[in-house]
Amino acid sequence: MPLPWFGRRHAPQIDDRLWRRTVADFPFAGHLGEAELQGLRALCEEFLRRKTFSGAHDLAVTLRMRAAIAFQACLPVLHLGLGGYDDFVELVIHADQFVVRRSQVDEAGVVHESVEALAGEAMDRGPVVLSWADAAPGARSRGWNVTIHEFVHKLDLADGDADGIPPLPRAARARWEQAMLAAYDDFCMQLDRVERAIPGHVDPEGPAAEPYYSRLPLDPYAATDLAEFFAVSGEAFFVTPDALAQAFPAWYEALAGFFRQDPRQKPAAVQNASGHGFPP
Ligand SMILES: [Zn+2]
Repeated sequence: MPLPWFGRRHAPQIDDRLWRRTVADFPFAGHLGEAELQGLRALCEEFLRRKTFSGAHDLAVTLRMRAAIAFQACLPVLHLGLGGYDDFVELVIHADQFVVRRSQVDEAGVVHESVEALAGEAMDRGPVVLSWADAAPGARSRGWNVTIHEFVHKLDLADGDADGIPPLPRAARARWEQAMLAAYDDFCMQLDRVERAIPGHVDPEGPAAEPYYSRLPLDPYAATDLAEFFAVSGEAFFVTPDALAQAFPAWYEALAGFFRQDPRQKPAAVQNASGHGFPP
């Protein structure tokens, strides 16, 4: 259930001890200097005031959990403000992955029912749903970060389209599209090569195929479409920036320009502000 209005107005602040613990939990934010960390803390507190957290199936969502999720959600918008997240208020937290049922009608009119276990979901103008088992500190390695992923979807959706393009001024948008499409095509070709290299006796969905996919600079899910390519790239930008910059330098630069930060630099260096972003 959403918190009542007074729960929102008086959301607990992140005290010094919890803040230090949260910062230590996410070493990939090590590019931020002290002033930027203070800015991130203030943004996290504002995020906690504006958003409600609901635990699915009576999960108790503790302040530590909320701080951890706020930290990961606010890092991408540290220099953009929270306006890109204005289309929703509620976060729904499951203890672990949650099952969704979908039905799709194909071109022949046949209905396909599927059941999927998800770590996160961002609905257009709706809540962000996360599995705490996946969103908790240190839950995943190799560039995986479901919280950043879902919140990058929100930034993508801020102009109404899940197309891998957040709201950008015209000139920046053209550069963004060019860099993204080139990187996406390159990545899809790399994935094709990896898939062809997997021997016939190895299940491509099984753990034995993992060493083949680990050669890729991004999770194979990035090849799904441009919206997923942006979301997966957003995770990698913050969590494994060196590998992403090496694989797709122009795409990395486009992301650094949009987020106005460069996670490769330690400590902080802020990209030049270029007039885009969201209202605070
Ligand atoms: Zn996604």
